[in-house]
Amino acid sequence: MYRRTLLLTPWMAPHKVITWERAVVLWYLDKVEVLEEYEDVVRSPSISIRTPAVVRLKKAIRSAKQVVRFSRMNVFARDDFRCQYCGERKITRELNYDHVVPRKHGGRTAWENIVTSCYPCNDRKGSRTPEQAGMKLRKQPIRPRVLPIAVAFRFRDVDVHSLWEPYVMTS
Ligand SMILES: [Zn+2]
Repeated sequence: MYRRTLLLTPWMAPHKVITWERAVVLWYLDKVEVLEEYEDVVRSPSISIRTPAVVRLKKAIRSAKQVVRFSRMNVFARDDFRCQYCGERKITRELNYDHVVPRKHGGRTAWENIVTSCYPCNDRKGSRTPEQAGMKLRKQPIRPRVLPIAVAFRFRDVDVHSLWEPYVMTS
């Protein structure tokens, strides 16, 4: 029997993997709606239900829980694995992260000053600001509220059931 349930945010992004027992409790408490079910049926004296495979939260999770950790991989995820100068989408090992305002000019290592960059653009920019290098940022970097792609990324370590596939972006 498959023991895990994929929990989605109200806007359908993968949030985390929980046990199906927990999913049933959330459903019973009316916190989630069931989108997919496994074949297995669980029975108690009063009810008989199919175990949930994918559930969606009805209400947004409190923002305190949504703080996205600053990391290289999460910066790539925020930027959709695209170089923020040339716009090309690359694989992780072909990406670097760039201080928009270079450290030597006081630029911080923080969400608002770090963007995804490919190596050629990174070399071209060097330790200059985009203005000095004559390069244009595709968008202003901000601290993201949620990161569906980065969350989905962790599913590579988890056995993804076929019922989950439509809800999990893995590439
Ligand atoms: Zn580039």
